Amino acid sequence: MAWFTRAKTGAEGTPDSEKNVRTEGLWEKCEGCGQIIWRKNLEDTLYVCTKCNYHFRIDARTRLELLLDGGQFDEHDTDLITTDPLEFKDKKKYPERIAEASLATGLKDALISASGLLDKRPVNICSMELKFVGGSMGAVVGEKITRAVERSMARRAPPEADTTISGARMQEGAISLMQLAKLSAALMQLDEAGLPYVSVLTDPTTGGVTASFAMLGDLNIAEPGALIGFAGPRVIEQTIRQKLPDGFQRSEFLLEHGFLDAIVKRNEMKAYISDALSFFAG
Ligand SMILES: [Zn+2]
Repeated sequence: MAWFTRAKTGAEGTPDSEKNVRTEGLWEKCEGCGQIIWRKNLEDTLYVCTKCNYHFRIDARTRLELLLDGGQFDEHDTDLITTDPLEFKDKKKYPERIAEASLATGLKDALISASGLLDKRPVNICSMELKFVGGSMGAVVGEKITRAVERSMARRAPPEADTTISGARMQEGAISLMQLAKLSAALMQLDEAGLPYVSVLTDPTTGGVTASFAMLGDLNIAEPGALIGFAGPRVIEQTIRQKLPDGFQRSEFLLEHGFLDAIVKRNEMKAYISDALSFFAG
């Protein structure tokens, strides 16, 4: 049985732009310092608080627009959709959950696979969408990243992944976990082909995915203050019976302990990746 299929046409969700107009206010409260900020000003600062440098969460599409030249990109594999192989049901049936997420985000699963130019250099970027079932990874996400890696090898354009993930998707059980092995294998082929892979970890990147492709970059970089971890702090405290240090599982703590190569502010991210790709290109 296939774990994903092509969606029938006519099942599109409401596009982001329309939804934003309907549901979002003119003001946002900064989670870092509590300041109330006019939304228009936030757009100008790339959704970063100018007072405390708090990086607001942004959606997958906005992230791609910030990184790629002219905010322009081609999307790939937009019609892949889960087949609900386990016929999973918790409070809701899994297909109902997918349909709701689709309506809210305009996407068919939790990832946009894009290709475009980053400082005139062709790249493939996989950007995760947190608002789609918590940005969790099932067979569609695994397949889309694998195809992006294959596309990169065919065109010699390096891939980059923006991760914001809550781990493997419960509703696809072991099939989700198999994606970890599938992606690790695809990235190994990429490595053998001599192409670089940059992983950008954004708030939040957690779960089994942190333990695989999010941390397998030739360069693993993160935005300031991002929550990055495997299990949550409460579970760890209960297991080791010790109080965790302040700032545990934040970018700065991980950099200090050697899990990250750099922390890069959002307004410097594009230039940083561009420099890195030039470096890798020799
Ligand atoms: Zn602030």
